[in-house]
Amino acid sequence: MTIESAEQNKKVSGNVKTHVIYQYVMLLLITTTLFIPPQKKGKIMTTYHTKALILGSGPAGYSAAIYAARASMKPILVSGMQPGGQLTITTDVENYPGFADPIQGPWLVEQMEKQAVHVGTDIKPDYIVSVDLSKRPFVCVGESGDTYIGETLIICTGASARWLGIPSEEKFKNFGVSACATCDGFFFRGKEVAVLGGGNSAVEEALFLSNLAAKVTIVHRRNEFRAEKILQERLFAKPNISVIWDSAIEEFLGTDNPPSLTGIKLRSTKTNEFSELKVDGAFIAIGHTPNTELFKGQLDLDAAGYIITAPDSTTTNIKGVFAAGDVQDHVFRQAVTAAGTGCMAALEAERFLG
Ligand SMILES: Cc1cc2nc3c(=O)[nH]c(=O)nc-3n(C[C@H](O)[C@H](O)[C@H](O)COP(=O)(O)OP(=O)(O)OC[C@H]3O[C@@H](n4cnc5c(N)ncnc54)[C@H](O)[C@@H]3O)c2cc1C
Repeated sequence: MTIESAEQNKKVSGNVKTHVIYQYVMLLLITTTLFIPPQKKGKIMTTYHTKALILGSGPAGYSAAIYAARASMKPILVSGMQPGGQLTITTDVENYPGFADPIQGPWLVEQMEKQAVHVGTDIKPDYIVSVDLSKRPFVCVGESGDTYIGETLIICTGASARWLGIPSEEKFKNFGVSACATCDGFFFRGKEVAVLGGGNSAVEEALFLSNLAAKVTIVHRRNEFRAEKILQERLFAKPNISVIWDSAIEEFLGTDNPPSLTGIKLRSTKTNEFSELKVDGAFIAIGHTPNTELFKGQLDLDAAGYIITAPDSTTTNIKGVFAAGDVQDHVFRQAVTAAGTGCMAALEAERFLG
């Protein structure tokens, strides 16, 4: 190789290096821009301060907001990824006091929202992705990039019912398939229903339904229940409850326009054989998941992940942090109880600040 060509090679390899670095920097810029959520692009991040920061826009969150606003706490409520909460995915609500005729779940929470705004709540359509409860005031960061600082924090992030996740379940939700016997059992008076599950919830749901429905069949994938013995004894004493062991729901069956459940297709977990059971309603009772992932390691949670609150109170293990509604209630899980504890949380937050 001549000195000239060696010089040329050096120049070319220098150019290649510069080009590679240039490409790398461009790629880095493009990927970081792509991974910035759309709402953050070109957005100036804002920090909001309030005496009462409320997370969640179900009955607990709105009730807390109404009480906090009327106590001049100028609450900020972050509505989350499901504005209105669980009631937005149901139809008829017949057990929320104050309405002589059945009302629609989405309409009920819409009224709660209007009432909360009317008395002075600032509602933020955001979703909290991180919290720092190590000191007061408490800092929550939203998915938007905005920061919410609360002198007190009222957690009302609810719990989600676990579903089977099969396509026919989606089709018949609210048209015969439900995850709440206390809420929907009344619509199946004198009819035949199935309950899926084998834990305390399933047995309790079946016992509740046995007082309304003509016949209740529990479908369980094993050959014994996990439920407490006392509950099982009550269950086996009921003449209108029967059990199909070693079986799982394969498909929900029914008619279209409007969808109406007529039965369920079962699969034996032992033989894989299929069978059909005629029912008017099916209740999925395989548990709930509280929305508490954010608070793990900061707040005391029970074994199932629910926030632990003091008896007759919404106080948590951290002073100034309160929890209301389904996020701390694995027993009742009703709109009216959620609203009740939301009210308690706001009153306790107000007293805490003094
Ligand atoms: C199908 C169905 C039918 C029902 N029917 C009835 C009925 O007829 N009567 C009755 O009394 N009850 C009924 N219930 C139960 C009732 O809906 C609940 O008990 C009630 O909604 C609980 O209220 P909540 O405020 O605690 O939580 P939810 O209603 O679960 O609301 C939780 C809120 O938290 C928000 N959130 C979650 N994570 C975050 C986060 N990281 N950042 C910000 N926000 C967050 C969500 O967006 C949501 O707005 C039914 C439930 C279901 C699923």
